Amino acid sequence: TAGGPGDGAASLAAAHESPMSLERPISNLFYQTRLRRPTLARGEGVYLWDSEGKRYLDGSSGAMVSNIGHSNPAVLDAMRRQMELSTFGYRLHFENEPAERLATRIAGRMPEGLDRVFFVSGGSEAVESALKLARQYAVARGQAERWKVISRFPSYHGSTLGALAVTGMSLMSAPFAPMLREMPKIPAPTCYLDRDGLSLEERGLRYALMLREEILRQGPETCLAFIMEPVGGASTGALVAPDGYYAAIRAICDEFGLLLICDEVMSGAGRTGRYLASEHWNLRPDIVALSKGFGAGYAPLGAMVADRTIAETVIDHGGFVHGHTYAGNPLACAAGLAVLEEIDRLGLIEAAERQGAVLKARLEGLMAHFPFIGDVRGKGLLLAFELVADRETMAPLPPALNAHLRLVDIAYDAGLIIYSRRTRGGRVGDHFMVCPPLIVTDAQIDEIMAQLTSALESFAIEAKLPAGGA
Ligand code: PLP
Repeated sequence: TAGGPGDGAASLAAAHESPMSLERPISNLFYQTRLRRPTLARGEGVYLWDSEGKRYLDGSSGAMVSNIGHSNPAVLDAMRRQMELSTFGYRLHFENEPAERLATRIAGRMPEGLDRVFFVSGGSEAVESALKLARQYAVARGQAERWKVISRFPSYHGSTLGALAVTGMSLMSAPFAPMLREMPKIPAPTCYLDRDGLSLEERGLRYALMLREEILRQGPETCLAFIMEPVGGASTGALVAPDGYYAAIRAICDEFGLLLICDEVMSGAGRTGRYLASEHWNLRPDIVALSKGFGAGYAPLGAMVADRTIAETVIDHGGFVHGHTYAGNPLACAAGLAVLEEIDRLGLIEAAERQGAVLKARLEGLMAHFPFIGDVRGKGLLLAFELVADRETMAPLPPALNAHLRLVDIAYDAGLIIYSRRTRGGRVGDHFMVCPPLIVTDAQIDEIMAQLTSALESFAIEAKLPAGGA
């Protein structure tokens, strides 16, 4: 059968042609398993090539991961050097230098007092760790009745059962409902959809007050923490709240003694033009979750960074009863350290702010030509646009159009990768993340815009939507 060693490109091409074929082993048991994609051959900078030599511009950095671009030579060298020394030493047996150095560097990027770092291998693990540390802190302080973690709907915090319990995305959580201890949710601040005569700031505060109402409804003594993405990820399409929202959330958490967990898995590591997106609002979280751009695709790597008092209290009460075997391994940490060094050497946080402003203005410019673009939003190079049936009412496109899949496929066939979602059950419709690596040049932004414009033209024709407005 196909798929054995040495079968090569011919069988893979055959599998791609027949989308339902299950004749080769499947390594990607995702819900879109039957979506066959070409085989990745190599990557360099903002580009990827498949095994047939076709080139793609990685306009979403994968899933907003490859922040420093593909095959960065300095990172590869650092990884090679570390591989020659050691790739694993179990954390109960050894400390390792890359992990210690990376922890020190990361602590230096955090708000004052957030300097206890716990390495993991991905975003879901970082969120799980944050939830469990928060809980152990409450127990250690004699507040065992605090266990509810309030989050937002829509939101995405990961696929493992704990992270899923705070994720506001019914597609992901519904099958597991009996196994989950579903946590309370408040609406994400989708102020751009509201037609209520209020100013944006007033709307932002209204959404923040929903946290207060929810805490009172649940009973403040039972509430442990609030978790949010400071700039939304794919669930909301780079949702940014009005400025006042952030300080109001912090004040409400403080009023009732809830910890504030910022899930910066996607928004962190420089993507929004600050190392942490929460810095835009001087928001001080108690615990931060990092991944994606932290390992930037070079190694499975994430981190939970906690306030010193929280971590030390837990350690004083017997220690953090949580851990993953691969956590903090020297190879992943050496990659993370080199990624951080490249971010600094290449000035990529400033680049995210500068190139993000350019790209955002260009995306906004598309609205004049395509009346079905309802909104462009985001910060730095965490950007998205949303398609609608009517810009006035922001009514979504009919689901039957499958815009979130069709536009992505049209662009993909033409060699541009973007990332999309339609959030069912929420109010956010078809939205598209345009989040190239932070090394993207002006010429590459031109290339993204040319390909995206032509994909939107084709989609408009196919979906019989008007295009070509003033
Ligand atoms: N949190 C956020 C904000 C994310 O965007 C993601 C992934 O998309 C996760 C957590 C989960 O990360 P991972 O897929 O690495 O487990």
